Amino acid sequence: MREQFLTACKRIVVKIGSSLVASPKGGLRLDRINRLAKELGTIRATNREIVVVSSGAIVAGISHLALQTYPHELPLQQAAAAVGQSRLMRSYETAFEETHHKIAQILLTHQDLADRRRFLNARHTLTTLLQLGVIPIINENDTVAIDEIRFGDNDTLAGQVAHVVDADLLVILSDVNGLYTQDPHFHPSATLIPFVPVITPEIEESAGASRTLNSRGGMITKIRAAKQAGRFGVSTLLLNGETPLALQQVLEGQEGGTLFQPQESSLTSRKQWIAFTLRPKGELILDEGAVNALTQRGKSLLPSGIKKVIGSFMTGDPVACLTEDGKSFAQGLTNYSSETLQRILGKKTSEIRKILGALEYEEVIHRDNLVLTGS
Ligand code: GLU
Repeated sequence: MREQFLTACKRIVVKIGSSLVASPKGGLRLDRINRLAKELGTIRATNREIVVVSSGAIVAGISHLALQTYPHELPLQQAAAAVGQSRLMRSYETAFEETHHKIAQILLTHQDLADRRRFLNARHTLTTLLQLGVIPIINENDTVAIDEIRFGDNDTLAGQVAHVVDADLLVILSDVNGLYTQDPHFHPSATLIPFVPVITPEIEESAGASRTLNSRGGMITKIRAAKQAGRFGVSTLLLNGETPLALQQVLEGQEGGTLFQPQESSLTSRKQWIAFTLRPKGELILDEGAVNALTQRGKSLLPSGIKKVIGSFMTGDPVACLTEDGKSFAQGLTNYSSETLQRILGKKTSEIRKILGALEYEEVIHRDNLVLTGS
């Protein structure tokens, strides 16, 4: 089944990790970039569409600026990214010219995808580039991304991009072979897992420990990206990008890496976006009756079922719905700001009319803007 799926994939997002294309001391690894471009060019020529998400700007910048280590301070990371990004793209440009493929640079922040219009614009631009036969190369817009609007790491960015372009497959290329039964650094007998049908809490936990020094990710961000892509209905392949032709061969049906199966999803793209792209700006604690109405009876959320409002948010913002014991089970777009909700929570429609003078919306979250997330 794994082989059948991989050989049939048409639209592929390939995330290339920092450690593959740059080192803090030596700068950009042009041999690697050239080899990867050649391999991706060959894959592109077999009638598959490729979107690249490449890290490496910060590490390339560190090298060019002769900084000693990966900086912890955000402004220094941003300065290094600004210096490194143009060098990174110049290297890709030169490498892909050899394969006669055109490339395009796209820099994104989380804010670009959190606004539905901008999300759709990004989708149109990317699909237009693919139709034109161009290979888009995406990175986080590190120079402007402050904590509130950043993805934080490119594994997460790539998981979101897979949804933006409605990919069949997300490939995460790094310096690890895939997911092992145990950390192979400490357990030489650990074996590679070729196929993961479900990402269990145990898998997430065991991945938590491993980290790499010269990038923001680690095994945990890769597993989380696979989980996120899976919620969008996209499969993820973890593969070692240091092995020449590994991706090409896996797509031809050979063994290698770990493939994560996605969840079956009946959600529309807009609902997936509400639930898994937007970050909640606040929380609503609901009573048992409201939890039941939402989860069992497909109802909208009314003010009467809200027990507590946490955080500060505006009309239209995403908020999470929680049970009384703090379990988040749904996410939606609120019709009321946190300030107004504080005045009307727990109240019936007739009382709300008296408090607010008028009733603009009966529902706090309309069913069309609400998604059950399960956990
Ligand atoms: N956007 C960062 C860069 O280009 C990489 C972040 C990451 O390592 O995930 O350097």
